Amino acid sequence: MGETADSGGPPAPLAITLLGTGSPLPDPNRAGPATLVSGAGEHHLVDAGRGVLMRLAAAAVAPGMLTSVLLTHLHSDHTTDLGDVITTRWVLGFPAEPLVIVGPVGTGEFIDRLMASLSIDIGYRLAHHEDLVEGPPVRVVEVTDGEVEVPGTIAVTCAPTDHRPVAPTVAYRFDLDGASVVTAGDTVPCEGLDRLCLDAGALVHTVLRKDVIEPMPIQRFRDTCDYHSSPEEAARTAARAGVRILVFTHYVPAPPPGSAQDWIDLARPHFAGRIEAGDDLHRVEVSPR
Ligand SMILES: [Zn+2]
Ligand SMILES: [Zn+2]
Repeated sequence: MGETADSGGPPAPLAITLLGTGSPLPDPNRAGPATLVSGAGEHHLVDAGRGVLMRLAAAAVAPGMLTSVLLTHLHSDHTTDLGDVITTRWVLGFPAEPLVIVGPVGTGEFIDRLMASLSIDIGYRLAHHEDLVEGPPVRVVEVTDGEVEVPGTIAVTCAPTDHRPVAPTVAYRFDLDGASVVTAGDTVPCEGLDRLCLDAGALVHTVLRKDVIEPMPIQRFRDTCDYHSSPEEAARTAARAGVRILVFTHYVPAPPPGSAQDWIDLARPHFAGRIEAGDDLHRVEVSPR
């Protein structure tokens, strides 16, 4: 937890809040993958992992305040609490507008099935509350590369990433008043991410310690090495693109809170900029370049 400001200048246009820095491995201190990008009174939620609404509450953001939800891919650790976001926004608020959910091709089918899984609960609530006359309104936007249509004034773009055999996957970029943030999701270094990151203010990158996982005697763990980036690889991506601040998240295996200095030490020889390796609710302000 904590806050990092660039300097004593005017307020930064964009802020990153690491809502969840965990991974599929349950962790008492780390929620599942989720990152909030805020600015101009907007809140864009990237991924919706385990515990996302608890962390949003800690960041004083109610589900009804979300401008959009953007999924980097459909792996369960990144989507498992999306149903909670949809249901709670509906039950606790009176949203006139549908919740905009952006994701790679396949997201429409995913949301259809998710809504089907919620349908029994939706039926209970419609029957019980007279003022609820229809189920949770959602609008799905599937993206591949380029501009992303979301409400608000923050410009959002995306590019394909490489998390194969999981495909398709995308990273997102948020631009506002000269400040920019890229959220990479799970990926190995690739052309699409390099392109999206060009001259970005900050890059939020998921990281996996291959030096720790590769020697493990469990093949299912070792399988994860070939479709994630190590801290060194994330650092080289940031350096190639001229990124100013590199922000780590989705630590595998997760260090105890406040003890990620060795992750920074591994990355340091490959990237001269600022590196943030925070825990859940760590906040980074991003100024114009
Ligand atoms: Zn994944
Ligand atoms: Zn993941």
